[in-house]
Amino acid sequence: MNPAEWLARSAALHPGAPALMRGAEVLADYAEFARQAAGLGAALAARGLGPGARVAVFMTNRPEYLVALYAVWWAGAAVVPINAKLHPREAEWIIANAGAGAVILSEDVGADLRPEGVVRLSVDAAEFAGLLARDPLPAPAPMAGEALAWLFYTSGTTGRPKGVQITAANLVAAVLSYLADVDAVHPTDAAFYAAPMSHGAGLYNFMHVIRAARHVLPPSGGFDAAEILDLAPRLGDLHMFAAPTMVRRLVAEAKARGCRGAGIRTIVYGGGPMYLADIVEAVEVMGPRFVQIYGQGESPMTITALPRELVADRSHADWRARLASVGRAFSALEVRIAGADGRTLPPGEVGEILVRGPTVMQGYWRNPRATAETIRDGWLWTGDMGAMDGAGFVTLHDRSKDVIISGGTNIYPREVEEALLLHAAVAEVSVVGRPHPDWGEEVVAFVVCEPGQGADAATLDAHCREHIARFKRPKQYRFLAELPKNNYGKVLKTDLRRMLEEDA
Ligand code: AMP
Repeated sequence: MNPAEWLARSAALHPGAPALMRGAEVLADYAEFARQAAGLGAALAARGLGPGARVAVFMTNRPEYLVALYAVWWAGAAVVPINAKLHPREAEWIIANAGAGAVILSEDVGADLRPEGVVRLSVDAAEFAGLLARDPLPAPAPMAGEALAWLFYTSGTTGRPKGVQITAANLVAAVLSYLADVDAVHPTDAAFYAAPMSHGAGLYNFMHVIRAARHVLPPSGGFDAAEILDLAPRLGDLHMFAAPTMVRRLVAEAKARGCRGAGIRTIVYGGGPMYLADIVEAVEVMGPRFVQIYGQGESPMTITALPRELVADRSHADWRARLASVGRAFSALEVRIAGADGRTLPPGEVGEILVRGPTVMQGYWRNPRATAETIRDGWLWTGDMGAMDGAGFVTLHDRSKDVIISGGTNIYPREVEEALLLHAAVAEVSVVGRPHPDWGEEVVAFVVCEPGQGADAATLDAHCREHIARFKRPKQYRFLAELPKNNYGKVLKTDLRRMLEEDA
């Protein structure tokens, strides 16, 4: 089914329910939200962007984000969400790779974005209001379960990002899975968008649309712990997705104020490892408001979950191990731990985490090779290493991919390395993550310069600003005469990490 049906139904039954808000201010009720989506949907359809088409969204968190998503679906097309922190050149590459026919953008990030042959719709342009006010399409276009609905680009481990094809049926399954295994959602709830809506945080809108609940955009535009603690008591029943870094900051702010986070109902944490001490303290300070999910773009928001009662439980003999885990498989999914040969390993043994079920992607966009490597015999190989105990709790151990997770956002070393190698003075480079108390990890680059040439950190930092998103830039540069390598000439990242440990 078309996810826009959910909006149409909520608007029909609860037209006057507050829908889009900035802080405590109501901007649109459900009737208006649906009318704007249907109007912009008509504008897209008039440009031939209906079933089978793709429309990119490159925008910071703002109310128009939700209108844009539902407009694209209303027209029957698929959304290509692009991380607002990406460099315009990276965004252009994604738009071209996806074959998007249009991009809906905000000027704060998209001012320099002018992809050739692609319709450019700016929410900040004077004519945008006219698009919203068009004669609306009467009903969302029919969308089959297997139709592409969400084409999400992962940061590529091998240079270029890959488009993850999520169908309408995948989205329906992810939303129902949340309601079955994570948490209830009520009409009085307020979905709060502090994390980037191009990722998981944006996908948490659906259950709130189904219940005709409120969608609240932070006036600050992003995550601000003080703002959340101020707003929550006024809004009540606040629901938000937060990366572990955000949880730590929120808890520190609540502690400093001597408050417990009144008005916050649910904080869904995930996207990166949460340290045991941090979640123990979070529950101590703020009470049983937390649930954990473990997912990835390839099975969005949905692989395992640790619901509220288990996050808050301190009585079970294994509560520490359970709290350090990512929880148990969602009811609709099979999750198992496998060795390299694909055979299931006994409880407690570490292997790769495999997933099969209705939330798993339909493969990578126009990339059969990567698809064949990742989906084998119907199972999604997540690239995450972990173990499962006898009761089904999964603990993540290591990432087989070398991803660095900083502030809940994935940074792939290869991409940073490739950018640095474009600098004439850089002969060799290797990028690793270093544990950081606040961000989870931070990026460190080991650089070998060309003979007779030197480069300093400031020069390389300026170079990175030209080529990659700011958040991917190394926080430190270490200059070496040579990189440690094995017999096959492969750089030994373990040795580099050890050097950092020794320094610490
Ligand atoms: P993405 O595809 O950008 O959502 O990144 C997904 C990756 O983030 C997963 O494959 C894991 O490595 C990591 N991840 C997601 N959720 C959790 C969690 N709850 N705990 C630890 N790591 C997580």
